[in-house]
Amino acid sequence: MSATHGSANGTTTATTAAWDYEVFWSEALKELQEQLTAQEFETWLRKLSYLRSAESEVVISVPSSFYRSQVESRYQRGLEQTLRDLSGQSIRVEFVVDKATAAAIAEEEAATGNDKTSARRPDARLEPRSSAAPPPPARRAHRQLNQEYNFARFVEGESNSFALNAAMAIANNPGRSYNPCLIYGSVGLGKTHLLQAIGNEVHRQLTDLKVVYVTVETFTNEFIQSIKEKTGHRFKNRYRSADVLLIDDVQFLQGKVETQHELFHTFNALYDAKKQMVFSSDRPVAELKALPDRLINRFERGLNVDLQPPSYETRIAILRQKVEERQIDIGDDVIELISRNVRTNVRDLEKALTKLVAYAELVERTISIDIANRELRDLFSRPDSRNIGVDAIQRTVAEFFSLTANDLRGKKRTKAIAFPRQVAMYITRRLTEYSTTEVGNEFGGRDHTTVMYACQKVEERMKTDATLEPTIQQIIRSLSPPEID
Ligand code: ADP
Ligand code: MG
Repeated sequence: MSATHGSANGTTTATTAAWDYEVFWSEALKELQEQLTAQEFETWLRKLSYLRSAESEVVISVPSSFYRSQVESRYQRGLEQTLRDLSGQSIRVEFVVDKATAAAIAEEEAATGNDKTSARRPDARLEPRSSAAPPPPARRAHRQLNQEYNFARFVEGESNSFALNAAMAIANNPGRSYNPCLIYGSVGLGKTHLLQAIGNEVHRQLTDLKVVYVTVETFTNEFIQSIKEKTGHRFKNRYRSADVLLIDDVQFLQGKVETQHELFHTFNALYDAKKQMVFSSDRPVAELKALPDRLINRFERGLNVDLQPPSYETRIAILRQKVEERQIDIGDDVIELISRNVRTNVRDLEKALTKLVAYAELVERTISIDIANRELRDLFSRPDSRNIGVDAIQRTVAEFFSLTANDLRGKKRTKAIAFPRQVAMYITRRLTEYSTTEVGNEFGGRDHTTVMYACQKVEERMKTDATLEPTIQQIIRSLSPPEID
C-alpha cells in the first residue's frame, strides 16, 4: 500500500483524492495501534471500518451507538490529529452506526466466541455514558519525545541559563519570538534535552499544535526512503505541516546535499508561515563549514544560543537532582568527589552515577568515598588539575611538536601550528577547570567557540587516527607526575 498519489506535477495543495483518505485512515489506525495496548486496540478500534469519504471527512462505521459514544470520546480527537499529521490537512472523522457491520461482527464473534466488550458489559448500551467511560485520557505523550526531557528536570546554571530561558520562551510562545533558534554546544551538554523539552511543553500546553522532533539522521533516512517509495508528498506534508519543528544535530547535514536542499525548502515554507523552528548543532554556525551559505544564512537568521560545560556548582546541583530523582543512596561527599573529577559534560556525570548505582545494587553496599574512588577510576583517570597550569600545557605541547609556546598563543594559522594548538586546547579542557572562554583567553584571546571547535576536531580525529589518543596520553604523562592511587 502506498499513497504515491498527488504531487507529481508539484501541485501539493490540490485536494487529495478520496481514495487517499482511506490510505490515511488505515495509516492513522496503525499509528494508534502502536500507541495503545493490544487489549485497548482490540476492544475499541478493531471493530471500526472505513465506509467512505467526502471533502475533508472520512466516514467510519461502528457497530453500535454505545461504541460510537466511546470511540468519539476516547479517540476522535487523536485520530483527527493523526490524520492531520499524515495528510497535512484537516480531516474530520464521522462515526456512523452501521447495521451491516454490526451484523457481520456479531456473526464473527458467535463463531469465535470472542466478544471482549460485551462479555464485560452485558448490557453496555444501557449504562449511562459518564460511568461507562472513564474520562478521556489526558493527551498522550508525544511519540517522538522522551517525557523525561522536560524543563523541570533541567538544572539551570550559568553555563546553560541563556539557552534554557530561550527554550522556555519559545515553548510558551512558539513562532512568535526567537524564530528560528539554534542551540549549540558540544556533546552531552543538554541540546537534545532542551529541544525535546520545548516539544513536550508545547505538546502539553497547546494541544492543537503539531510538534515534530527529528534528528538529522532520521530526517535523512526518511527522505531517502520517500524517494525510493515515491511518497515524497507525504514526507513533505509531514514536515511542512508542523507548527513546531525541532531538528537535532544539524552538523550531520554536512555532505548530504539532497537532504540540505530538502531542509532548505522546508525551512522556507515554515518560515513564511511563521512556524517555529529550533535546531541544534554541536558547533556554532560559523563552523558548520561544509554547509552551503544559503542554509547557514537561514540558521543565522534567528537566535543562536550556546551551552557550556557546567561549573563545579552546577555539576553538584545536577548530581543532587539526579540522586533525588532516582532515589539513590549516595552522600554529599561522593557527589562532591564526582563533581571535582568529572568536568566534561552532564552525560559523563550521569555515567558516573549509573556505574555507582549498578555497583550498589549488585554488591548491596552503600557507596562510600573509597568505593566511589575505586569504581570510577576510569572516569576519573585524569591527573589532578590543580597542579597543572595552561602555561605548562602550552610549553609541553609546543615542545612535543617542536614549536614554542608563543606559536600556540600567536595569530598564525598555518597547519603546522593550528593542529598543535587544537591539541593544546583540548588537553587544557581535559585537565583543567578552565571554561572555554578562559581557554580562549589563554590562547591569544580567541573566542570560546574556537576552543569548542578545536576540542571537537581533536575528538573527531581520534576516531579516525588511532595514534592520536596515545600521543595525547604521552603528552599528558610528560606533563604530570604519576597518578596517585
Ligand atoms: P546533547 O544532546 O547535547 O549531546 P543531551 O541532551 O543528550 O546532550 O544530554 C545528555 C544527558 O544529560 C541527558 O540525559 C540530559 O537529560 C542530561 N542533562 C543535560 N543537561 C542537563 C541539565 N542542565 N540538567 C539535568 N540534566 C541534564
Ligand atoms: Mg543530542
